Amino acid sequence: MPATVVVGTQWGDEGKGKLTDLVAKEMHAVVRYQGGHNAGHTLVVDGESFALQLIPSGVLYDHITPVIGNGVVVDPVVMLSEVDALESRGVDCSRLRVSGNAHLILPYHQELDRLIERHLGKNKLGTTKRGIGPTYADKASRVGLRVQDLLDADIFREKLEAVLAEKNLVLAKIYNRLGFDPDELADRYLTEVAPRVAPYVADTVSLVHESLERGEHVLFEGAQATFLDLDHGTYPFVTSSNPIAGGACVGAGVGPRHIDRVIGIAKAYVTRVGSGPMPTELFDETGDTIVDLGHEYGVNTKRRRRPGWFDAVMLRHAVRLNSLSEVAITKLDIFDSFDSIKVCVAYDVDGVRHDHLPYHQSDLHAATPIYEELPGWKKDLTEARERHDLPPNAVTYLQFLQEQIGVPIRVVGTGPGRDQHVLFSD
Ligand code: GDP
Repeated sequence: MPATVVVGTQWGDEGKGKLTDLVAKEMHAVVRYQGGHNAGHTLVVDGESFALQLIPSGVLYDHITPVIGNGVVVDPVVMLSEVDALESRGVDCSRLRVSGNAHLILPYHQELDRLIERHLGKNKLGTTKRGIGPTYADKASRVGLRVQDLLDADIFREKLEAVLAEKNLVLAKIYNRLGFDPDELADRYLTEVAPRVAPYVADTVSLVHESLERGEHVLFEGAQATFLDLDHGTYPFVTSSNPIAGGACVGAGVGPRHIDRVIGIAKAYVTRVGSGPMPTELFDETGDTIVDLGHEYGVNTKRRRRPGWFDAVMLRHAVRLNSLSEVAITKLDIFDSFDSIKVCVAYDVDGVRHDHLPYHQSDLHAATPIYEELPGWKKDLTEARERHDLPPNAVTYLQFLQEQIGVPIRVVGTGPGRDQHVLFSD
């Protein structure tokens, strides 16, 4: 089973980094297929903590080729600074490969991201202001510059001049800002950035296929999560790319038949950052307890994440959207002190029961969760390593989740450490 996708099934921060670490041993390549440097992964390897935002986590393993696929938007300055930071800590980045077709985030994208958010006022999307949305917009408008353009100075200058003619007008006439000088920007990128990026640029589609043809294992790493997907998430409070498993096909250049394993990561509860509907949201002390015990604060922004009970309706939808073959449940240990735990099994919308996600978002806003309540286990799970270490009520809870979502649970997280998990076979 050589090609595996790891995808978040909720609104992100599910603990994908740890799962990636768990399967890394058997992988030859780890490929990012969408998003940009807005995807923080925290990985602890040999006792050292690494926070990666753009470079795939595979870089930390000597046997893995880390690949930034064509579907990613790349700020080359950030890429180089991550390389420098990793190399200064002794991590060899020479195996890193970046697709020539990946689009470049350039300084005007960041400037526009900030200005557009400010202009939206109270309707702002809460973007990370790193230029990711505007870069994907340019890609769709066919005015983007790609990584491969850095390797051809004439083309780079020509495209930059053409696009800045329009961007500078927008900056001046709409936002009352100074524009960017195309010559200055081109000189800077062609002298300081291009020569350093060049050794990493590759035909990543061939690289991935040749690896698969040799029977090697390739991991496709999704950033963000299913309900932040541009097409399938709670629009407009979504990311500007497709994190769902199918995004791996587009963003890495493999057909659907190449993917044989899709692992969905779900926390034992849900959290969400920023605005948008969230039917099981908790506004009470239970929510505060989950936030405190789960350290549910943004890694960079320190913003409190919105907490809620596990939502099986969402998970059933995530199973469909991603063809999940299995699920990893993380952070089960957060419930160790709970007397009872609720699971949302369906929604009530104006007196009508919905077992599946209602397609109209107004219904999602109006949805009242229908809960089942299960007894807690009141035991410390952080030492659990085997199935028989789990108390009966924890097993019952997991079995209930599995019945609700309809695919097997293969991994259960019982603490932040890399060995704090329980594996389930059939
Ligand atoms: P991502 O955004 O989905 O990649 O999430 P991360 O991989 O950054 O994980 C989020 C945080 O949850 C990290 O600090 C992890 O150490 C922590 N974490 C992951 N799994 C578990 C778990 O099973 N229990 C506990 N208590 N913490 C976990």
